[in-house]
Amino acid sequence: MKIKIWGCRGSIPAPSTAEFVTNRYGGNTTCVSISVPGQVLILDAGTGLRNLGLALAEHPGLRATFFFSHVHWDHIQGFPFFLPSFDRDSVFNLYGRSHPQLPNFGGSAVANALLLQQQSLNFPVALDQMGAQMHFFNLVAGQRVELPGTAGVLAVTAGELNHPGSCFGYRIEYRRGGKARSFVFATDTEHGDKANAHLQTLARGADILLYDAQFTPEEYPSYVGWGHSTWVHGLRECAAAGVKRLLLTHHDPLRDDWALARIETDARQEGRKLGIEVDAAREGMEIEL
Ligand SMILES: [Zn+2]
Ligand SMILES: [Zn+2]
Repeated sequence: MKIKIWGCRGSIPAPSTAEFVTNRYGGNTTCVSISVPGQVLILDAGTGLRNLGLALAEHPGLRATFFFSHVHWDHIQGFPFFLPSFDRDSVFNLYGRSHPQLPNFGGSAVANALLLQQQSLNFPVALDQMGAQMHFFNLVAGQRVELPGTAGVLAVTAGELNHPGSCFGYRIEYRRGGKARSFVFATDTEHGDKANAHLQTLARGADILLYDAQFTPEEYPSYVGWGHSTWVHGLRECAAAGVKRLLLTHHDPLRDDWALARIETDARQEGRKLGIEVDAAREGMEIEL
C-alpha cells in the first residue's frame, strides 16, 4: 500500500509566512491517503484533503472510502473543497462514530458534522448538492471492516483513543503475496500513566504508528486534558507494541519548521536507543509498505 501525508498540522492550518516558515512539514490539517490497486482510502478530511482532491480529480468517477477519527474542525474542514465531491460519478463510503441523539443519517457523527458544516450560513453548497453519492456507516470501537471488493485483502479496525468528545484510531492491514502490512493512524490522543491499552491492541506488531505529538514533554504539563500527547509517549507506545517506525503528527500550529526539526532530532536520538526509526510527518511524504 502507498501511504501519503496530505496534512499533519494540528488544530488549525499554519500557512508559511516570511517570518514563520512551515514549508518543510506543511501547514494543512490532518489528511492521509492509502492507495492499493483499485482502492483509495482516506483518513480524515482536514484541509490537506483539498490537495488530495486536486490530484484525484484527474480521474473522474472516484470510488473512495473515508474513515474519520472524529469530527473536530481540523479533521473535516477540507471536505467542502474536495473536488471529487462535485463529480456526479463519484461514490464515497464514509465511516465514523455514531451519536444516537443526532438527528440525521442514522446518528452518523460524520454525516451530521459535514451537513452542519455546509449549512447555507457557512458555505454556499449544501452537502446533498455536491453531486457525489455518499453512503455513511457507523462504527463501534473494536469493529473490523473488510473493504468491499478486496476479498479481505484490505481491512480497517477501529479503536478508542483518549480525546475530548472521543476519537477513533485505525489499524489498516493490507495482505499481498502472503505478507501482511499494517499502518496505525492514532492522531488526537492523550497519554496516561501507562501505555494506552486500546492503542496497544491496534498497534501490536504494526509496521508504522502515526502518533499525536502536538506537545513537547516540557509543554505537556500546561496542557493536561487537552487530548494530545508527546513524542516521548509515541516512543513508549511503539516500544510496548513492538512497532519499529514512528511518525509524529498533529504538529502544533505555533511550531515552525525549525522548532519541528528540533523535536524530530530529539525524538530520533531517543528512538535510536530503542531501535525505533522516527520521522516527523510532513506534507507530501510517501511511504510504500
Ligand atoms: Zn485534531
Ligand atoms: Zn480533536
